[in-house]
Amino acid sequence: MAHVISTPPVPTAAVAGTKDVFPVRRIYCVGRNYAEHAREMGHDVREPPFFFQKPADVIIPDGSDFPYPPRSSDVQHEIELVAALKSGGTNIPIDRALDHVFGYAVGLDMTRRDLQGQAKKMGRPWEVGKGFERSAPLGIIQPASKIGHPAKGTVWLKLNGKERQKGDLTEMIWSLPEIIAELSTLFTLAAGDLIFTGTPAGVGPVAKGDALEGGVDGVGTLKVRVV
Ligand code: MN
Repeated sequence: MAHVISTPPVPTAAVAGTKDVFPVRRIYCVGRNYAEHAREMGHDVREPPFFFQKPADVIIPDGSDFPYPPRSSDVQHEIELVAALKSGGTNIPIDRALDHVFGYAVGLDMTRRDLQGQAKKMGRPWEVGKGFERSAPLGIIQPASKIGHPAKGTVWLKLNGKERQKGDLTEMIWSLPEIIAELSTLFTLAAGDLIFTGTPAGVGPVAKGDALEGGVDGVGTLKVRVV
């Protein structure tokens, strides 16, 4: 059966060591997964992390321009480790969670902080703050078969060469296996899902002309220019 309109393209991400690409199904994000970041956002660090989604087609590759989005005057960077799933399911046990991970990349959860703040205050959904066009720059995916499953390592972001964010994967409140297990009690995870695992402290605003460079030790780096 033909589609009645032209078929929207499947969003894809580059994979290290191959010309083949990773098709993206959903993007899950973890909120407040580093205590220092929860504190800087004014929250009680004893509250457990939580989830939200971005549309799959907002990813952009390493080296992209990030156009300053409309309707905001406070767009902020959040550097994060991203896990890419090759399989999924529901009620995944913690000790089997990493079996579902294809690989890892460095990602930016770009955020219209002012719109997110208004949404929080009014008890409204976060999409306008989090799910806008090109809001998920994503580096090259490194297969876990090559780099393993990083559980420690610096997560960092430099803005115009100056350090802004710095944390370590060991500081995550929920580890990746715990995130996958918890998420799979709420949603049916599947191949093609990306999980942004939360950002360390030091988030802040970007401006047109800024160069963002971030990374996760053992995974890679990601560069974006704000235009
Ligand atoms: Mn985030």
